[in-house]
Amino acid sequence: MDALRIMERLERRSFLDRQVSRREFLRFCGRMAVLLGLSDSMIPRIAEAVENTVKQRRPSVIWLEFQDCAGNTESFTRASSPSVAQAVLEAISLDYHETLMAAAGHQAEEARRRVLEENRGRAIVVVEGSIPTRDGGVYCTIAGKTALQILKEIEPYALVFVAVGTCAAFGGLPRANPNPTGAVAVEDIIRTKPVINAPGCPANPDVLMGILVHYLVFGRLPELDAQNRPKFAYGKRIHDTCERRPHFDAGQFVVRFDDYGARQGYCLYKVGCKGPETYNICASWRWNLAASWPVKAGHPCLGCSERDFWDKFTPFYHRIPLAAGFGVEARADQVGKVAVGLTGAGIVAHAIYTGLVRRAERKADELAEQESPESDEG
Ligand code: SF4
Repeated sequence: MDALRIMERLERRSFLDRQVSRREFLRFCGRMAVLLGLSDSMIPRIAEAVENTVKQRRPSVIWLEFQDCAGNTESFTRASSPSVAQAVLEAISLDYHETLMAAAGHQAEEARRRVLEENRGRAIVVVEGSIPTRDGGVYCTIAGKTALQILKEIEPYALVFVAVGTCAAFGGLPRANPNPTGAVAVEDIIRTKPVINAPGCPANPDVLMGILVHYLVFGRLPELDAQNRPKFAYGKRIHDTCERRPHFDAGQFVVRFDDYGARQGYCLYKVGCKGPETYNICASWRWNLAASWPVKAGHPCLGCSERDFWDKFTPFYHRIPLAAGFGVEARADQVGKVAVGLTGAGIVAHAIYTGLVRRAERKADELAEQESPESDEG
């Protein structure tokens, strides 16, 4: 079966035909409402907006992979609701994804060309990986074209570029000194279309879903910060939402990975945690159904979502010289002597998120019940 027929078959299958229950779908909408900072009264509107994409002409998503490890694709397939996330992405028409699509070779390239022609100026282009520019960009070629050529060719067709992961957003590891391939970020190449940066190694998959859902609901992109990151996900430091923060404030630190402090869950600042200089949603939103995240598992934050993190933060297991920020912070050895006003901030932040998510899921369950009182699912 050729690529076009595969896609036509995919398009005929209804989003609602998939193995996603109504309750599961509404709960996903509830979590998106919390992530985007919206009231749970918006759940029906989010659901309606996503469903309408099935009935109307849907924005097309083209997912490109360049100098990357496919970690963001991997991350996406492990989203908090992977079946729903995949269905939503397909609902908005995931027309080209080198790793996930069945087609290959000429068929895949032809599919991309056709989709772009049909969606001129409307395609949402997700880019994973950095773009090599040295020696004419020869260090990443696909179907005989360099990543640089492919991006420039696609630019006129795009509505927006979403640079997912730190390599696409900031150049990431390939751009680290000495940067042998001349790697750059999407924002260094694209000049005529907006670029949203969703950094992280990998990016939290729910952040990408939040960007897409925001666009479907409001018809515009979410508010961005000075580095073009969505504020709903990158507005807070990890340090301010971390559950180990009370230990930082109390001057209780892990000094070696197997010491008493490590077993007690003390702060990881002295073994290199970069949470005080990193902005991301990891601590409050977490990963894998909000089960955990690196710091909870006992590993310091590496600051992977920050610009130039590799050069700036290595060696990773050395403490950063100064935890700049709130008044209660000073050098780590002084912190325990300071009167603490923020103890428990991280725990509270995560608890607030958890409480909001639970409330939104209850609301979603009520809506599912109202829509189908006889249903016994969920
Ligand atoms: S330094 Fe790291 S482990 Fe310690 S409170 Fe901040 S983010 Fe959490």
